[in-house]
Amino acid sequence: MRTLIVFDIDGTLLRSVAQHQAAFLAALHDTGLSDIDTAWGGYTHHTDSWIFREVFRANTGRVPSAAETQRFADVLHDRFRAATEAAGVAEIPGAAEFLCALAKADDYDVAFATGGMREVTAVKLAPFGALGPVATASDHTFREHVVREAIHQSGTGFDRVVSIGDGPWDMRAAVATGSQFIGIGPSTAPFGDWFPETHLFSSFGDVDPGADFSLCPPEGAVAAEPHADKAFAARPAACVCWE
Ligand SMILES: [Mg+2]
Repeated sequence: MRTLIVFDIDGTLLRSVAQHQAAFLAALHDTGLSDIDTAWGGYTHHTDSWIFREVFRANTGRVPSAAETQRFADVLHDRFRAATEAAGVAEIPGAAEFLCALAKADDYDVAFATGGMREVTAVKLAPFGALGPVATASDHTFREHVVREAIHQSGTGFDRVVSIGDGPWDMRAAVATGSQFIGIGPSTAPFGDWFPETHLFSSFGDVDPGADFSLCPPEGAVAAEPHADKAFAARPAACVCWE
């Protein structure tokens, strides 16, 4: 059985959520944006490109150009690198070893789908090496499209896809793409009371990737997809999520 495993990065492979959010906020200020809703989980899509666009729109009344978005990604990269280059970023226990074992196994392929922009993602993944396709918020503004991009870039012939993530947005994308799902974290709180304890881990050392991680959420337990999530166009085509 061939399995594709799609990893989120922040909070899933790395303890990088606080550092990323601090760099993101600093980069918004560096870009001249001051009216900022920092309840990051409240935005329709949990990606850097979507939140940047919404903050930019709230401050200027228009959406940013591709060049303005790229400039923001560069500033974010500088801010994150400056904040983490001395001490580095801790990994979630067992993450590197787990990834390494999967990369060597014949029946597994790995890919990465992150809500971070491309440049800052390269910094985070550097210690792990280039193990598979990487889809980022520079490719799509919808989280779900980033996951679809990672699956698309991985090719065909998989018997199942297993997504691994730490946020409700990761789980929602797994449900929407028909993937199995492993939750990373100390409790099922982000995923809901119904979420099976068997699918939750705080350390990769305990994960058996061959186990069945199918999800069967009760009706209405997982938020519906926002409008147009399924209108996906793989790169390099222009996707509807940038309109
Ligand atoms: Mg995450």
